[in-house]
Amino acid sequence: MSSLRERGILCFNHCSPVNVLCFEIPDDCPVCGVSLDSSPCLSPPFRIPSPFANAKAIPYSVVIKPTVGTFLQDFKGNSNLHVGITNSKGAVYNYDEGGLHKDKDKYSWQQSISIPLLDKYDDELMELWDECLESYSSSELWTPARYDETTHNCYDLAIGFLNSISYGEFKGRSEAQLSRKSFCTEYIIPHTKKAARYIELYRKIESLKFVKKEESYC
Ligand SMILES: [Zn+2]
Repeated sequence: MSSLRERGILCFNHCSPVNVLCFEIPDDCPVCGVSLDSSPCLSPPFRIPSPFANAKAIPYSVVIKPTVGTFLQDFKGNSNLHVGITNSKGAVYNYDEGGLHKDKDKYSWQQSISIPLLDKYDDELMELWDECLESYSSSELWTPARYDETTHNCYDLAIGFLNSISYGEFKGRSEAQLSRKSFCTEYIIPHTKKAARYIELYRKIESLKFVKKEESYC
């Protein structure tokens, strides 16, 4: 179970210009071999922000995870993704072949990408959010029998909900209705691209212990 836990990536710079990325700060600098106790780093080590969070802690968002497994362990560029929408308490409304689910436990969406849909000025929509999400997802559209892997799936629930509350119009998009294509281009792909970069680095550190980079990661 412990291997499924996400480890934080640390970055330090002992002998400029090389940054070292690792899970644990070593005793000796892997670039020059000098003990870090006797010769401190040029700047304090810092943690690279992870693109993943527990959806339970992120209300009013689109959340994404691989359909099978986790991002850090199992994700490949062509993996299928599962998406959901969180309510004000972080419950994830999502749709699959088993019908509609409201995942409230803290494990199901533990390592997911969250894309916040509202900011603190959107209080009007925030107030209506839970009620609208509940009513939209209770419709007959989201039964197991209606599910279709390509034409009626988790994306349709998320996009359909956003269109039902006129989210595009509310956010001043030129095209008020979101299509599957615009939803993916505007919301999903920029985040999965960023996450893919982090996953690649994470796996490199897992196998090599240290990654040395001349340019900064962030
Ligand atoms: Zn060094």
